[in-house]
Amino acid sequence: MNNTGWGALQDDNAGNKTNFTKFNAGEITEIRCLTNEPTVRWSHFIPSAKRSVTCLGKGCPICDARELAKSQGVDPKFSTSKKFAMVIYNFKTEQVEILEQGKAFFEQLFSFHTEIGDIGTYNIKVKRIGEKTNTTYTLIPCAPTAFNKETGELPDLIKQFTPPTKEQMLALMEGQSPTDVFGNNKTEVSGEDEQFEV
Ligand SMILES: [Zn+2]
Repeated sequence: MNNTGWGALQDDNAGNKTNFTKFNAGEITEIRCLTNEPTVRWSHFIPSAKRSVTCLGKGCPICDARELAKSQGVDPKFSTSKKFAMVIYNFKTEQVEILEQGKAFFEQLFSFHTEIGDIGTYNIKVKRIGEKTNTTYTLIPCAPTAFNKETGELPDLIKQFTPPTKEQMLALMEGQSPTDVFGNNKTEVSGEDEQFEV
């Protein structure tokens, strides 16, 4: 597994940890899509909490704060990005994971789905080039093969990305820790590059 350092202790205590796919720069990772349609959501990154939360939509305090900051001509403290997610099997980590990426990545998947055929019927090699804001992904479809790895019950993406309550979001915005706000079981932690997106 990828956990190293003291942070891993905390992750174990949280139980039911959801694994998000991480691609390392310069490496090729082979994956298999286990769901054939992505979930889509607007997500906000809260730097002090080091985590992203799903936008509440109408009345969202982060959207309000961003509007206010823009009207005052200052940089908003919280970023917004459109996130697509799918459940995949990662042949490198040998586990089921949630693949969460932006539009460009999913546009490549969608072109395979429409041009080549159902993305659940072949593996896909993902090559990550560069880091942070300079990251690009090249996706290469493999020949169709049967998939016969044991996956168990797949994670429920709708549940995973349930927005916090308005009170929880306000508490995070004020700098309270996610553990205090959500207790130990809420584990919405996503891609490490999120804070660099606009
Ligand atoms: Zn919002």
